[in-house]
Amino acid sequence: MAKNSTIEWTTHTANIWWGCTTVHEGCDHCYAAALSKRWGNDVWGNDKPRKKIKSVWTELLKYQKQAKAANEIHKVFVGSMMDIFEKPMPCIDHKGNLLTENTGILRQTFFDNITKGMYPNLMFLLLTKRPSNINKYIPDSWKSSPPVNVMFGTSPVNQATAFTLIEQLAKVNGKKFLSVEPQLEEISLLPWLQSNLISWVIQGGESGPGRRPFDTDWARRLRVECEATNTPYFFKQIDKVKAIPQDLEIREFPEKVFGCAFNSLCNSDNQASKIRIPVTVGFQI
Ligand code: SF4
Repeated sequence: MAKNSTIEWTTHTANIWWGCTTVHEGCDHCYAAALSKRWGNDVWGNDKPRKKIKSVWTELLKYQKQAKAANEIHKVFVGSMMDIFEKPMPCIDHKGNLLTENTGILRQTFFDNITKGMYPNLMFLLLTKRPSNINKYIPDSWKSSPPVNVMFGTSPVNQATAFTLIEQLAKVNGKKFLSVEPQLEEISLLPWLQSNLISWVIQGGESGPGRRPFDTDWARRLRVECEATNTPYFFKQIDKVKAIPQDLEIREFPEKVFGCAFNSLCNSDNQASKIRIPVTVGFQI
């Protein structure tokens, strides 16, 4: 299978624009901001425009074609260099010229394409640190009838952000997941897992320069909570340098959620597929 993303829990990443503004302490060492700056872009902050990525539409069609040819469902993380539910911001092209369309218009085009059924073999993972904006920016039709191929996710990094962000995510209709990364302190997700609000938990510590410490017992706690509530659990990394202990080599996907959304793969009673992973260590951004 062609996989364009180095992020372990997705097949592809898609960015409709580049640029964002920090939201909470999890953003302190934002890899996307550093990468963007390194490549000469000035698109971070509330007073900066976002850079439109023109090629994304062609890429999405290519991913759809590949997934269809393989008779598979491919996951698309939106996006690694942006936050899909950020407020509408002005846009520039790759030469820095200001465009008439803003990010709100680009987002609307993307959502309209999903509504039209242009990507029937792609499962979109819409991960945001701004879940309170989801109901504000999704099409009205999604509020009563969310697309089968969309999951909404958010990223708590400590117990305080877990309370705030998950309660905001709870107001959204549709399938939901959490990416607890970069985790900065011990967190319990039990109340939300017990109420079946969350279909998938991804967890990881921070990587890169200035990374903050991660305690593997935080991972064991979430692993146990996920096991107790039959929630698929995916452990991504300690810091991409330290090896993952064997008992945390767990990378489950919500296969039933993905599969049933597309009326296939529903024969299994197992909600997750458990995969033993070969873990590579070494610094990566
Ligand atoms: S929300 Fe995501 S992309 Fe935006 S600054 Fe925070 S970590 Fe970076």
